[in-house]
Amino acid sequence: MTRLPLLVLGFFSLAFGVAGGLVRLGAAIPAPAGAVALHGALMVSGFLGTVIGLERAVALGRPWAYAAPLASGLGGLCLVFGYAAAGFALLALAAAALVAASLAVLRRQPSLEMATLAAGAAAWLAGNLALYAGAAAVPWWIAFFALTIGGERLELSRYLKRGAFARNAFIVLAAALLAAPLLPRVLGVVLVLLALWLFTYDLARVTVRQNGLPRYIAACLLSGYAWLGFGGALLAAAVAYDAALHAAGGAVSAVTALLAGAAEVAFCALRPPGHHAESERAMGFCLFNNVAVAARYALDRLGASRVLVLDWDVHHGNGTNDIFHGTDAVLYASIHQSPLYPGTGALTDNGAGEGEGHTVNLPVPPGAGHDDFVGLVQHVVVPIAHEYVPDLVLVSAGFDAHRDDPLANCTLTEDSYGAMASAMRRLSRELEAPLGFVLEGGYDLRALAGSVAATIEAAMDGASPPTAEPGALVARARAHYRGWWPSLAQV
Ligand SMILES: [Zn+2]
Repeated sequence: MTRLPLLVLGFFSLAFGVAGGLVRLGAAIPAPAGAVALHGALMVSGFLGTVIGLERAVALGRPWAYAAPLASGLGGLCLVFGYAAAGFALLALAAAALVAASLAVLRRQPSLEMATLAAGAAAWLAGNLALYAGAAAVPWWIAFFALTIGGERLELSRYLKRGAFARNAFIVLAAALLAAPLLPRVLGVVLVLLALWLFTYDLARVTVRQNGLPRYIAACLLSGYAWLGFGGALLAAAVAYDAALHAAGGAVSAVTALLAGAAEVAFCALRPPGHHAESERAMGFCLFNNVAVAARYALDRLGASRVLVLDWDVHHGNGTNDIFHGTDAVLYASIHQSPLYPGTGALTDNGAGEGEGHTVNLPVPPGAGHDDFVGLVQHVVVPIAHEYVPDLVLVSAGFDAHRDDPLANCTLTEDSYGAMASAMRRLSRELEAPLGFVLEGGYDLRALAGSVAATIEAAMDGASPPTAEPGALVARARAHYRGWWPSLAQV
């Protein structure tokens, strides 16, 4: 008869937790401040902790085990009425009792299922202790749920025949869940894998083919796994955010070193790339515009007054184009295949206002090759740069104009990149401006690796390649840009 009051305590937390959550979403309903501020703790520890604690106490059948649901139920009550410190202490106590009860169950029936449930209880304890200490509790709570669900499903599905692979995979995932809260961004990946495991091996896949209640329950479970995977994917997306911050930071530290004179040439091997990203929008594999962030940093913080950005990625760098469209402090020159994603970068897009003539778009047709790219660098970009006199030269170095690249139709080789790199190195020497390469696209890994190596070698040794013949593309570009850059009028 102890069960019902305990369950009521748990549902008390549920009611106030839901009300607090709705207020957070903007609903105009009355809810105590504690329920709003501690909505997560109420839902996870006050409600579900009580239910799970009760379940475990029933399974063990010992009176002391009821301490877990009692403490978590009372803890939820304290949170709602503003006794947060007492509530946190009770929740930690509850989790400790659940760990003890789970270990007692495990000793009675040693199995992977019970070990998983005990690991879940330990994660709950870690989360509640973190809450008590003012640290991040949520990753541990996520592990608590995932392990508890995993353990319970494993128990209910124990008569299903699964191979050793399924069992071993589950053990690896459970172990990863127990460690992942220390690396919260890895947690997302583990949750996606657990969702896949449940989809593949859970009993629900069988019972969903039955009728009536079993089918209904199975459908609920399977859609729950879909949400688990979706939530994990959202968490894992944070990994990309972290990588993007490091990528932009890498480009910034490269220009810092270059302008401090620590090196004359730098190559930033960054992922994700950047040149499609706009100032407020990620686009085309790019989250932050690394080269634009670095150029802006050089101008604002490192004393540079003019930065040249040559973008030889096969796609137009629409982000860099737009970010510096109205300024003459950055000269953006891009050689790109047209038509091709993202569809911008016409020869006639040349910047605006103070930036007029400082956006130099050089589209080339599909099939363009070595002479086209190298010719445009040598006979258009280099002469313009001599007139512009930048104090920093950056290259948005994508390698997807390579003939082996699957995303475009140009025909460059490793030698082409070497030729363009040495033209830029020579330019940087003549201008006494350091040269930084920032990696953009490149989707054939062998071609990418070879082209990056050729670029670095050419930039280091500095020998000049043979001059490419100026073809029709060069003639058209020189005619178009000579109004802004008179040296292009000379033959
Ligand atoms: Zn590209």
